[in-house]
Amino acid sequence: MGRYTASVCRQCRREGEKLFLKGDRCYSEKCAVQKRAFIPGQHGQKRRQKTSEYGLQLREKQKTKRIYGVLEKQFRNYFKKADRQKGITGENLLILLERRLDNVVFRLGMGSSRKEARQLVNHDHFTINGRKANIASMLVGVGDTIQVKPGSVESPKFQEIKANGAYKTPPEWLEVDIDNLTGRVLALPTRENVDLTVNEQLIVELYSR
Ligand code: SF4
Repeated sequence: MGRYTASVCRQCRREGEKLFLKGDRCYSEKCAVQKRAFIPGQHGQKRRQKTSEYGLQLREKQKTKRIYGVLEKQFRNYFKKADRQKGITGENLLILLERRLDNVVFRLGMGSSRKEARQLVNHDHFTINGRKANIASMLVGVGDTIQVKPGSVESPKFQEIKANGAYKTPPEWLEVDIDNLTGRVLALPTRENVDLTVNEQLIVELYSR
């Protein structure tokens, strides 16, 4: 599957807000959204025309895809799944995205960004309930234990995390034991647990056209 390989900061600049795709840099003065607060590209600094309803819906979808690092086809599949579930489709969509293993590793504070967390998962550093878990899109469920593999514990990355602590405090649906490089899913996330400024209803409207 293809991946977005251009500068991730361009994605934030395109959306006009911080999407926190780069870990520590996002909290520093080097953040490109702060330094160059205009849309990238040749016409980025021109006066903007009023955005259409479709444009707003599209931007919200793009923004959400970029935050979670998911490509269009996979994102649409999440939407279809969310639509088949009981409840509010937009909320279901965000909850599915939150349950991705790469997002969970990030939320547990074992990766400075979702991108880094995905790389750690892809490099086969984790297990779920003692079983191999090296696919970033795996969905966690209630009661699952996510753990760094014994063979990976001594790697500089995880030793650094053990020494300095987790990158962030986990949301209340997750529990972390950083000394043992272990996390647990206490409950499924709710919309209130998802700390993103996303208007998911616009995405539902876009796909319902
Ligand atoms: Fe986005 Fe982070 Fe780059 Fe800032 S530093 S533009 S928040 S990815």
